[in-house]
Amino acid sequence: MSATRLLIVGPQGSGKGTQGVRIAEAYGIPVVSTGDVFRANIKDGTELGQRVQQIVEQGRLVPDELTSEIVRDRLAQPDAAAGFLLDGYPRNLGQVGHLDDFLASRDESLDAVIELRVPRAESIARLGLRAAQEGRSDDTDDVIAHRLDIYENETAPILDVYGERGIVDGIDGIGTLDEITDRIFAALEARGLVRRGG
Ligand code: AMP
Repeated sequence: MSATRLLIVGPQGSGKGTQGVRIAEAYGIPVVSTGDVFRANIKDGTELGQRVQQIVEQGRLVPDELTSEIVRDRLAQPDAAAGFLLDGYPRNLGQVGHLDDFLASRDESLDAVIELRVPRAESIARLGLRAAQEGRSDDTDDVIAHRLDIYENETAPILDVYGERGIVDGIDGIGTLDEITDRIFAALEARGLVRRGG
């Protein structure tokens, strides 16, 4: 059975976390979310958590080398041998280089990059809602604006790089959860990527 290696990219509030979990389940692969790793470590008060807490709360990016090391360790775990879905990494061109080097050293590469497209105003509206519901400390207005700026300036350019490789699927992120999941499945199927589970 061949491995499925995916990346989901989208602005904060695009729903990529929710969609990522659905896709990963359907393909029988783990989600590797750097944001989740950082939040869990902050919550548990680990050494890593203490190092990154302020950065995450201010909506800035954790240094590339540290983030890439965490991802490399995670991708080397046995459950990622059959593939993985990256959520929130790589987030800038430097991290793309790190990931390329790591995957190339294993004779691997990404099969598809799912780009969830949601207009900035919609992202802001959804994040405001999430802040009210979940009380995430990085969902305040200023931090939200800063994170969206980083997305537009630093993360969006990675889509040009992957686009040149012909692996980006642009998905309209407006609609019901199921509609968006179906769009993603259709795009992946068109690439010959076969689901295993639900
Ligand atoms: P997320 O849940 O993906 O929005 O990530 C939450 C926060 O974790 C971000 O605002 C950053 O502070 C940090 N973070 C997550 N992924 C990365 C990454 N790939 N590079 C640097 N910082 C990251």
